[in-house]
Amino acid sequence: MDPIAAAQALSEIGYLLRQNEKERFRAKAFSVAAWSIALQRPDVESLQRTESLTQIEGVGEGIARVLSDFVQTGQSRYLNRLREQMRQPARDDESELNFDDYQGDVHSHTNWSDGRATMLEMAQGAQALGYSYLGITDHSPRITVVHGLNAERLVAQAREMAEVQKQVDGVTLLQGIEVDILEDGALDLPDAVLEILDVVIASPHVKLRQEPAAMTERMLRAASHPHVDVIGHPTGRRPGSREGASYDFEAVFKEAAKHGTALEIDCDPARMDLSPEMARLAFECGCNFVVDADAHAPAEFAYVPMALWMGRRAGIPRERILNFRSVDELTMAFQ
Ligand SMILES: [Zn+2]
Ligand SMILES: [Zn+2]
Repeated sequence: MDPIAAAQALSEIGYLLRQNEKERFRAKAFSVAAWSIALQRPDVESLQRTESLTQIEGVGEGIARVLSDFVQTGQSRYLNRLREQMRQPARDDESELNFDDYQGDVHSHTNWSDGRATMLEMAQGAQALGYSYLGITDHSPRITVVHGLNAERLVAQAREMAEVQKQVDGVTLLQGIEVDILEDGALDLPDAVLEILDVVIASPHVKLRQEPAAMTERMLRAASHPHVDVIGHPTGRRPGSREGASYDFEAVFKEAAKHGTALEIDCDPARMDLSPEMARLAFECGCNFVVDADAHAPAEFAYVPMALWMGRRAGIPRERILNFRSVDELTMAFQ
């Protein structure tokens, strides 16, 4: 039994529980257990045999019972029951996505903005996972609380990146930005700055409850911007606590597909946005995707293996997910 499969089952349970506000704490416990397994990759079979699954950090008696069922049968009755209750049954057209083929993450933060680790620590974290690239995408100036980066600080960051690059063999560092989509759909940095970056992720962070027609215009403008490579966490929702933006999703996804702008599946358990249903719609609209951890510390890279089930559930084939491409193919797609 691959521990990542177990982590994904627990992650999906956490996701389903999160849809119900009353289950917030239980949801979080399942997500934490999934994260811990994705991070440490314990031998779940031998722990199950010796009835010691609770030795895994974050796994209490209740979660151990669910996990034990999954390890023994490859199925979780609890998960199946939740899927039924939430009317999200398993589909028969899920795709095959294997974390072993995942090449790198393009959305991560460092202590240049609100990350909790240095660029070197993040790069080493990516290296430890065998990634061949890592996008460093700190916030833009508008997000003042996290000290977002303006043009001047991006230049300074590029200098640090050149130094860090020398210390991490095998991982290509990509300099990017997570640029804020302003209320009218303009971006929080001038085109001349965006143009020189390797990765531009445009994300909605504020005024998410804008009236749908205005929100649609705002997102259409961002999706068609020539320098935008990815729309980050496209609704901004936080399941169980914040609903997220509502707009004409189909129109925006079609616009993104037309302009080669990828949509992000953000694997942070607090976000999990796009949801599998919405990702499915975007897939049908012709979009490409990135599946990212949005990591703010190296340990958070493990969000991707635990939440890869979302892309699988949405039926997205690996050809449509840019993280399964080599660094050369990726940067070509981002040109
Ligand atoms: Zn963001
Ligand atoms: Zn982010």
